[in-house]
Amino acid sequence: MQKVMTINKTKGIAGSRRKLPERRCVGCREMKNKSDLMRIVRKADDSGFCVDDTGKAAGRGAYICRDAACFKKAVKSGGFDRSFKQKIPQEVYAILEGMITLE
Ligand SMILES: [Zn+2]
Repeated sequence: MQKVMTINKTKGIAGSRRKLPERRCVGCREMKNKSDLMRIVRKADDSGFCVDDTGKAAGRGAYICRDAACFKKAVKSGGFDRSFKQKIPQEVYAILEGMITLE
């Protein structure tokens, strides 16, 4: 049985994490807690792309669910290309997909 969120009249929504920053997934385009997403970053020195585990790497970033389906959607819709304002090479997609679906 899943734990259901309960509403507490005095304290608002119990367990609310609304203070966490939200980011839009480039695949499903839904807003999610930053902590639920993976950040893909184009390195500031332009040496390539990587998955940013710390969320603090310098460079332009895009967020995506840890989900292969979202990744495929993002590739198909050009979500990454839009986020990074450039065409992402096929081999980069291959590497990123491997990292995302690894979990
Ligand atoms: Zn998604």
